[in-house]
Amino acid sequence: MAQFDYDLFVIGGGSGGVRAGRVAASLGKRVGVAEESRFGGTCVIRGCVPKKLMVYASQYSKLIEDAPGYGWQVGESSFDWATLIANKDKEIARLEGLYRKGLDTNGADMIDSRAVVTGPNTVRIEAGGKEVSAETILVAVGGRPNPMKELAGHEHCIVSDDIFDLEALPASIVILGAGYIALEFACILSQLGSKVTVVLRGDEILRGFDMDVRLHLRGEMEKKGVTFITGAQFEKVEPAGRGREVTLTNGEVLKADQVLLAAGRLPNTDALGLEAAGVALEWGGKVVVDEYSRSSVPSICAVGDVTDRVQLTPVAIHEAMCLIETLYKDNPTMPDHELVATAVFTQPEVGTIGMSEEEAAEKCRDLDVYKSVFRPMKYILPGRDEKMLMKIIAESATGKVVGVHLVGPDSGEMAQLLGISLKMGARKEDFDRTMAVHPTAAEELVTLYSPSYHVRDGKRVD
Ligand code: FAD
Ligand code: NDP
Repeated sequence: MAQFDYDLFVIGGGSGGVRAGRVAASLGKRVGVAEESRFGGTCVIRGCVPKKLMVYASQYSKLIEDAPGYGWQVGESSFDWATLIANKDKEIARLEGLYRKGLDTNGADMIDSRAVVTGPNTVRIEAGGKEVSAETILVAVGGRPNPMKELAGHEHCIVSDDIFDLEALPASIVILGAGYIALEFACILSQLGSKVTVVLRGDEILRGFDMDVRLHLRGEMEKKGVTFITGAQFEKVEPAGRGREVTLTNGEVLKADQVLLAAGRLPNTDALGLEAAGVALEWGGKVVVDEYSRSSVPSICAVGDVTDRVQLTPVAIHEAMCLIETLYKDNPTMPDHELVATAVFTQPEVGTIGMSEEEAAEKCRDLDVYKSVFRPMKYILPGRDEKMLMKIIAESATGKVVGVHLVGPDSGEMAQLLGISLKMGARKEDFDRTMAVHPTAAEELVTLYSPSYHVRDGKRVD
């Protein structure tokens, strides 16, 4: 008789958990996957997928505005929030079904319940209270929006999870934060017709990104009507009629239909039993893992947002796949977090890979920077005042491209392909000897022959 009920018990049916569970089951392992909400997790149910559907919905307002430039007369148009939400819900239900099917057809047990760790090899399934044992427990519980409980009146605010089910498009919204989620929703809601104000504690949006990207994106968002208030925090939020009133630390008072808190995410490790089982957690609750995703208790592993690595869906999936190699294929594999390409689905979109100029300047003595700001062809006939930014950063001595940063249409798609080149160690001369595809916006990347400026010992030299 087997020593354990399961070879692998996964807590959390999101991006990382479902991938690990499905692949382990396909290898003939006895797998259980517990999910307390809906299979698919943050990405499918309340993250990447519904967000991207909303991005597409919001792009139509500008397409309709631009249409006359191309000779189209569009009749009176209007937007119906309820239709978008209903259609989005249908698609999410379909995807959730596919996630369940993937586990089911490979023979994994799907458990619709919260599960908590009770020991190095035991888990309690909260629906029914049954305890099961597993040779390996995988913690893939992800995170949740920071509810900012320390903020007076936080209960009058919404978080990203709530946006997907709002009954109506807010006529106005104040957003706290200036990271991925704050800015993506600022653009979506603004283009659907909301009056959007973004409040950030710093001086500039998107901390950690290249400064040109940060400035360019903010400028373009402002042109589209988004207001930014920098260097301020929320002091309190109060109900005001059918809306809310936000008092800022700079004394300003803002009124809006809704207030969105987009100030980062917290790991779902509260009351999960990890500390009692001996699993070391970081300050803030993330699971400490080694380079093979093992926690301080060897039989308990963790992948995805619950660990302090990169909070992106492909990264959670990659970590899960590496763990399967390590556990079940006799092939110890460390996840590779170098050169992760990423997109921020703002409007205009950001695509980025590698180091920002600021980071590169700290690490490399001499840099060549190639930069171009231009109006994409598609905006010329409609007369749209929107510019695209492209920036390549190369090490002067070797020509190695260490960062590429884009803001403009399809930047996410370009970042994906640039990711391959940079992973292969592309040099600027490889970009130069690549034939352009004409007419495209991307051709600019292979026709930037002369550096715009250099950076020597951290200082710009024109
Ligand atoms: P999750 O997908 O969060 O899955 C964890 C699962 O565990 C959840 O389903 C949860 O219900 C369940 N769970 C928690 N505790 C328990 C328990 N005790 N018992 C049972 N089940 C439990 N990333 C991108 O790459 N691109 C994007 O465009 C993008 N957009 C995003 C937009 C938003 C609004 C948000 C919030 C995130 C976005 N992300 C995006 C990030 C991405 O969603 C996450 O990085 C990814 O989902 C992490 O996967 P995970 O498996 O670690 O956790
Ligand atoms: P981010 O880390 O991107 O941004 C958090 C924002 O909240 C920052 O502007 C930060 O300010 C601010 N903030 C944090 N704490 C406070 C506070 N106490 N008071 C005021 N402001 C605060 O987190 P998000 O929640 O936007 O997204 C979480 C992660 O999910 C992202 O990092 C990303 O990995 C992933 N994601 C990916 C997407 C994609 O791939 N397109 C889309 C959405 C999410 P400051 O800069 O000053 O620290």
